[in-house]
Amino acid sequence: MIQIMKAIAFSMIVIVVMCVGCGGKIDLGEIQRASKLVVKDRRNSVVGEITDQSRISQILTFINKRHNEWDRPLFDTPVPRLIVDIYDGDNFVGHFGIARAFFEMHRHGEFVSTKASQSEVDDFLRLINVDRQLVFGDRLERENRDFESHWENRKSATKTLRVVDDFDFVVLGVGLGAIPYVCRELIERDEHWRELVTHCKTVATQAFQVWMREDMEKLAPFHTQTTVSGFVQPFDSWADMRQVIDEESWQVAPRAVAYFCSALPDAQLPADPDDPHYLIRSRQVVQSNATDFLDRHISHLWPAAVTSSGFRWELLMDPADPAHPRADRSAFDSQFWSANVNPSDRYSASLPGTLRYRISPLDNTYDNLTVAGDWTNCGFNEGCVEAAVMSGRLAAHAIAQFPRLEDIVGYDHP
Ligand SMILES: Cc1cc2nc3c(=O)[nH]c(=O)nc-3n(C[C@H](O)[C@H](O)[C@H](O)COP(=O)(O)OP(=O)(O)OC[C@H]3O[C@@H](n4cnc5c(N)ncnc54)[C@H](O)[C@@H]3O)c2cc1C
Repeated sequence: MIQIMKAIAFSMIVIVVMCVGCGGKIDLGEIQRASKLVVKDRRNSVVGEITDQSRISQILTFINKRHNEWDRPLFDTPVPRLIVDIYDGDNFVGHFGIARAFFEMHRHGEFVSTKASQSEVDDFLRLINVDRQLVFGDRLERENRDFESHWENRKSATKTLRVVDDFDFVVLGVGLGAIPYVCRELIERDEHWRELVTHCKTVATQAFQVWMREDMEKLAPFHTQTTVSGFVQPFDSWADMRQVIDEESWQVAPRAVAYFCSALPDAQLPADPDDPHYLIRSRQVVQSNATDFLDRHISHLWPAAVTSSGFRWELLMDPADPAHPRADRSAFDSQFWSANVNPSDRYSASLPGTLRYRISPLDNTYDNLTVAGDWTNCGFNEGCVEAAVMSGRLAAHAIAQFPRLEDIVGYDHP
């Protein structure tokens, strides 16, 4: 209790200090002492520890130079590329975050940030001995590399992993569409795998989401919260996702969120195996499909979202600049859309007569391999999350006999 009261008294002093004479800036005070700095990446994995006192004091000097230059955060949640946790003995002193153009500080219950030039960021990275390329990936960004694209074929090396030396067991959890690419040798030698890829098919899909500044009740006065399918192409499914608004971190919350998806016909942009920009071009197709759809078809679902000249683009909220609506199609640039054309991202279809070609996670043809995913023979052979979960639990059973088959909900036969 005494500790808590001391902490409260201390924060009150800090708040008083913050309010006095800093011309809108926030003064967090200098950090007097530290015995250990822990450097972590943005996924919170430790990349280094600094205990050398002369390096720590150089780093504290760098941080303390800014002690009265902090501002309210640029974003309302921390977005650092790298974090330095500062400890004095067992006491946690604060987090110092490094982003491309600003620093962040979390200390005394305050979360603040301050702008930083590239040379200031580089100076700090040098002090903590971290390579800029590893943190920001500038060169890869300049080269326009997309590691999630199947068509990104520039590589630095190939490495063959061998069972026993490098791994014991494989759980193959990629999407069905990727099997022909990642399992070539299996398909060549095993008829069951050949039949799987011959008969079980996938489709590309497209999706987009928009965040709007008016209530859905106003835009679509005839509906309660709705999920629709079987509407027109190019987007036949709509879900009113208003329930997620409270979970998102907006400074000014949007009034409505809507999600659309549909199949993306392969014929609209035939895949070219040699086109490194195929994913980018597919995204352009989906962007154009989405903006045309809003202009031409949304009036049937949301009559108040259009005027005689089409969709009211100013409804869309840009998270980077919510106060300034844009009144033309460029407003869509700040929204979210995806072209799910990568082989692994394609939707697993359940075509008539094909289910018998699926492979079960319990298939023990190979004693160091099992499969998991919505395309497997898992007792609920549909492209849905329930199937993926059941399949994952079956794969766990195949490896560890846990969970028990009778505990896998929906799975009723071996
Ligand atoms: C547009 C759309 C809407 C959908 N709506 C619904 C819905 O409303 N309800 C519902 O239940 N289901 C829905 N689904 C289906 C649902 O998303 C899938 O059934 C589910 O995600 C399948 O899970 P999975 O684990 O089998 O595959 P995935 O979730 O696709 O996981 C495969 C993973 O493998 C990774 N991977 C691929 N290749 C490699 C590689 N070479 N190396 C390493 N990793 C790799 C991928 O990055 C991915 O993370 C929808 C699907 C789509 C496309």
